[in-house]
Amino acid sequence: MLTRPQSESRNRFEEAEFQGNIVRLIAIERKPEEALDALCAHYRVERPVLRIGLPRGEKKALGCYVHRERTIYISSEDYLFDPYVLIHEFYHHLRHVDGKHRGTERHARDFALSFLRNAQRAVARRSDGLS
Ligand SMILES: [Zn+2]
Repeated sequence: MLTRPQSESRNRFEEAEFQGNIVRLIAIERKPEEALDALCAHYRVERPVLRIGLPRGEKKALGCYVHRERTIYISSEDYLFDPYVLIHEFYHHLRHVDGKHRGTERHARDFALSFLRNAQRAVARRSDGLS
């Protein structure tokens, strides 16, 4: 029999709660700056700048992260409230090495999708209490 240590399952639950809250903060409360503060505190990293618009030469991206500026660019205000875009770009900030992307697109996607999944679960839990 294999049982998971109590603390680990509690941490997992707390992480899921945290991720769900971040998504809610961005999409429902529309406070991406606060979400970014919470993400940085949680992962203990310096706070990137959040800007609307794209850097020179970038035209098609919904969002992008420029490491030398420590800046997350979000193409337009609409996407500022799209949790996937902000969390994806935050991942690049979190994992950046030597100013280059190193095949981390898939990881950035998985990271952001995990937040969305946990937000959905939180909604499902709340509606379980309704009849
Ligand atoms: Zn990316």
